[in-house]
Amino acid sequence: MIVDFHTHSLASDGALAPLELLRRAKAAGVHQFALTDHDTMAGYLSVRHTNEASEVGLISGVELSCRWASTTLHVVGLNFDADAPQMITMVEQLTQAREERAEKISKRLAGLGIDGALKGAKKIANESQIGRPHFATWMAEAGAVDSATEAFDKYLGAGKIGDVKMFWPPLCDVVQAISQAGGVAILAHPLKYRLTGMKLRALISDFKAAGGGAIEVLNGRQPETDLKRLSQLAEGSGLMCSVGSDFHRDFEYGPKLGIDVERLPDGLYVWHAMEVAA
Ligand code: AMP
Ligand code: MN
Ligand code: MN
Ligand code: MN
Repeated sequence: MIVDFHTHSLASDGALAPLELLRRAKAAGVHQFALTDHDTMAGYLSVRHTNEASEVGLISGVELSCRWASTTLHVVGLNFDADAPQMITMVEQLTQAREERAEKISKRLAGLGIDGALKGAKKIANESQIGRPHFATWMAEAGAVDSATEAFDKYLGAGKIGDVKMFWPPLCDVVQAISQAGGVAILAHPLKYRLTGMKLRALISDFKAAGGGAIEVLNGRQPETDLKRLSQLAEGSGLMCSVGSDFHRDFEYGPKLGIDVERLPDGLYVWHAMEVAA
């Protein structure tokens, strides 16, 4: 069986239209699929009733931004009621937070002599949920940097001036919204936050106490040792496992859509607990 429970479309910072992404998932032989755009369900809502959606076993999905202590985290929500008021309100709150953050990023860049970033990034984002990648693309196009990667390295990445943290809701709020909407909350890519082992265990404990259901043991291309470590962490903490490509766009060394479950270690995976047809 091939699954993918973490992907992005044009509705956030991915390159493909939602329907195009589903077609690509179908071509990759995917049996169960989630589109998990950053802080928006717009892409999912636009395709949920299509033939392509049933062909790839589409379930509801989203990747919500939140904070835990001073760390920005991502929590993937799966298989929730996308019409539940808790989810609609949470996504509205996060959309507002992204607007406010975008203004702040722009002001900070203007302080460095890089003017017009808000207008530029919004033009790149168009209808999409605005994020740092849109600023990065604009900065490269405007000639402020040589590439989007350089924009992250110098201005937008962790700890840089454009890394504005203060607007995200607390971890327990986003986990609660997903749970109340009947879904499962998954701690996305736990090793990307660069926490010490002790802090990571504290995070997982807080996440579980808040109602979290699973941790992502496989995210895109990652070392085989990470898969083992995260699977052990999941088992030791009584959480299920989830997997996803975190596909955004095609690039040479990037992840492809779809994960063959045959390559995964034994464990309790989110799809074991889902009432969806395989
Ligand atoms: P945001 O959610 O708006 O803060 O943007 C975070 C997104 O930016 C992530 O989901 C990645 O897709 C992308 N991203 C983060 N760091 C980098 C980086 N160093 N280079 C390129 N893209 C990045
Ligand atoms: Mn992204
Ligand atoms: Mn993420
Ligand atoms: Mn993601």
